[in-house]
Amino acid sequence: TVFNLGSINADLFYDVPHLIAPGETLAATRHFRGLGGKGANMSVAVARAASRVVHIGAVGADGRWAVDRLLEYGVDTRHIVEVDDPTGHAIIMVASDGENAILIHPGANHAVTETHIADALTEATEADTFLFQNEISSQVAGATQASARGMRVVYAAAPFDAQAVKAVLPLLDALVMNEVEARQLSDAIGVSLTDLPVRDIIVTLGADGCRWLNTDTGEDQTFPAIPVTPVDTTGAGDTFTGYLVAALDRGMPMEQAISLGQQAGAIMVTRHGTADVIPDLKDVQDARLG
Ligand code: ADP
Repeated sequence: TVFNLGSINADLFYDVPHLIAPGETLAATRHFRGLGGKGANMSVAVARAASRVVHIGAVGADGRWAVDRLLEYGVDTRHIVEVDDPTGHAIIMVASDGENAILIHPGANHAVTETHIADALTEATEADTFLFQNEISSQVAGATQASARGMRVVYAAAPFDAQAVKAVLPLLDALVMNEVEARQLSDAIGVSLTDLPVRDIIVTLGADGCRWLNTDTGEDQTFPAIPVTPVDTTGAGDTFTGYLVAALDRGMPMEQAISLGQQAGAIMVTRHGTADVIPDLKDVQDARLG
């Protein structure tokens, strides 16, 4: 089972004629609300990859629809608590030329406590995986508890924050980042990735696939991406990571888990949208046969 400590956001999309200027009042031409947040996206991806996933997180009373949707998608929502803060949300303005501006309010995502995580992890064993990202409170406490329980601890260092990564590095079994985050991390700590105290380091390279560094053996391999024509790359990284972690949790070797993650990531970039369109295992397997 994957225990995912992660954000849940309402993604509030507004189509606008142009990005709003200081002091301006502007009417949107269209509005759409979707389920988002890196945490929620990854939980959906793990569930779609047919692994068990317990989501640890928080919403406000205005976020019950998001919990219901996660449940519909096969995520165990018993450890998503309801708090007084509003549900985390992103106000996403999309101008007619495609440019966007995004305002995020973490809200309930920052109300997750150490005790809340401890409650959820009483169900975990050393055969389980603890996954988290950088959009939630109590990360260090969560990773410390998971590590003490002997769980596999996986961190997706996104959105990047040097202090947050440094605090959890010694607790990690695997670290997943995109190319930009990997560069930010090397710059921030002044050492190359191969010198990090983490056994498995996975760097996604978009259309160039991904790189896997095994710091135990010194192996450094690059895996080419599946060639596709992308239409919307949002959510590719979350989908890749969810599939990768789901596969590792089921005991798959890293090469196979990476291959599955890349298949899912490639399908994801051919679709518009985020959590609601993450491919399921059957889509991924069918694409493989074709
Ligand atoms: P992020 O969304 O976090 O920036 P990436 O863009 O690196 O992450 O994408 C994650 C994974 O999704 C890649 O490692 C790759 O497997 C897949 N992917 C992303 N973009 C493409 C693409 N254009 N073609 C094929 N696969 C892609």
